[in-house]
Amino acid sequence: MRRALPDRIDLLVIGAGPGGCVLARRAAEAGLRVALVERSSAHDVGRKVCGNAVTEDGVETMREYGAAPTEAEAATQVWGGTIILGGGSVRMDAHKSGVILNRLTFGQRLLADAVAAGVELIDGCSCLGWTDRGSATVRLRWNDDKEADAKAKIVVDASGYGAVLTQHGGPSHQAAPLDRSDVGIAYREIAATTEDLEDPKQVFVVVGPEGARGGYGWVFPMGDRLVNVGVGTTLLEAGSRFKDCYRKFAASLPGMTLADPIDAGAGLLPLRRPLPSLVGDRFMTVGDAGRQANPLHGGGIAPSVLAGGIAAEVAVAALGTGDTSTAGLWDYGLRFMRELGAQHAAHEVLRRFLDSLPDRDVHFIVHELAKRGAVEKVMGARGAGARLSAHVRLVATIAKRPSLVITLMRAARSISATQSLYLDYPETPSRFGSWLGQLEHQKTELTRATRGGR
Ligand SMILES: Cc1cc2nc3c(=O)[nH]c(=O)nc-3n(C[C@H](O)[C@H](O)[C@H](O)COP(=O)(O)OP(=O)(O)OC[C@H]3O[C@@H](n4cnc5c(N)ncnc54)[C@H](O)[C@@H]3O)c2cc1C
Repeated sequence: MRRALPDRIDLLVIGAGPGGCVLARRAAEAGLRVALVERSSAHDVGRKVCGNAVTEDGVETMREYGAAPTEAEAATQVWGGTIILGGGSVRMDAHKSGVILNRLTFGQRLLADAVAAGVELIDGCSCLGWTDRGSATVRLRWNDDKEADAKAKIVVDASGYGAVLTQHGGPSHQAAPLDRSDVGIAYREIAATTEDLEDPKQVFVVVGPEGARGGYGWVFPMGDRLVNVGVGTTLLEAGSRFKDCYRKFAASLPGMTLADPIDAGAGLLPLRRPLPSLVGDRFMTVGDAGRQANPLHGGGIAPSVLAGGIAAEVAVAALGTGDTSTAGLWDYGLRFMRELGAQHAAHEVLRRFLDSLPDRDVHFIVHELAKRGAVEKVMGARGAGARLSAHVRLVATIAKRPSLVITLMRAARSISATQSLYLDYPETPSRFGSWLGQLEHQKTELTRATRGGR
């Protein structure tokens, strides 16, 4: 545990998850003096309750920023899997490849890379919040209760779902808090199986298992006899006995008996489009803190790496010109929205429409998309959002019930309009007010269009 703070800090990063570690390392490699504050001890960095699945596109994104998992960090390379809908009534093959990470090994390596690049790690130390927002000064508390203020030219909140600085006046625009319908909750265990897996290269996903409407249950293989099993939904749908839902799901797995878990726990994540503004004066927010996980399926590892990579480049440029104001850091939000935020916003719109429909319609839509190989295409790849509205429109032409046709056509229009708005994210803060006005208008329309479904 490091107690003394470095004398002068260019970039103070709160949180050593994938977003914070990649950002800190990239900025240090470019010559900035970087301090990374992490509430866990260094040896626990990477111990995160997570499904740990990253698609091949995600791995590509991570490679761009020097964070692709090595062979040792990937428990398994998967080549697709099975999706089950409607209590087993529909079984589909998925063809998307990816990896299941050994998250601790992966997290430890990202941290080691950051430290090797010159980042000062301050572990066993929590950020409590702002001491003085104007001078970018935050309050830190070490595990032995010692407290101190820390000040930097730029402060970055990469503290994950808790978003310790973002929630209290970090960005230039304070967004509304998350609704219960926009907070993902998942319980997962990592456990050995008593028999060899039938196919350890295939994932198994059940859409909307009992007790987790709007969510999914998963089995991600981590070798011949080890699995990461979980169930996730939103806080709105999860009952007080959510763990029972996991128990039922685990007990229902075909041909699989799980031994006592070697790791277990629940976690929260934001399932909403990115915050409208990801920067403020001397401030940036990255990863789950900036709501950058995918709102449809919750994948947030690759997005946080992407955000960390972009944020580092923009911070380096801003410190080079000496402009660390909102305007000087604006490019980070602009680039993130264009590269991924527009797609996540489109995914959020689709999720809202799906949430408003009865289960049989959801199953019909997913089934039709899957038949065309479209589920995999629109789920993750950067830039896939444009195809999303076309696919939804196509399903509308096949649907038989007029009310579903109308809903799907509306959804397609809304997805397309949302995506266009985010691709047209303002290039400077001066246009942000009018952009925000259009965003609010779209959100009102979306609420109207998805109200009173089911
Ligand atoms: C149950 C579950 C399953 C998931 N499954 C997947 C999946 O299969 N694939 C996928 O891509 N994504 C998945 N995600 C999402 C993914 O885990 C996150 O999106 C990703 O970890 C975000 O990275 P991050 O760097 O923003 O934050 P985090 O990984 O959450 O890291 C934040 C860091 O900040 C530290 N911290 C927090 N508060 C403070 C503070 N006040 N002071 C100092 N340090 C602090 C934390 O200890 C942590 O180390 C899942 C999430 C959950 C909850």
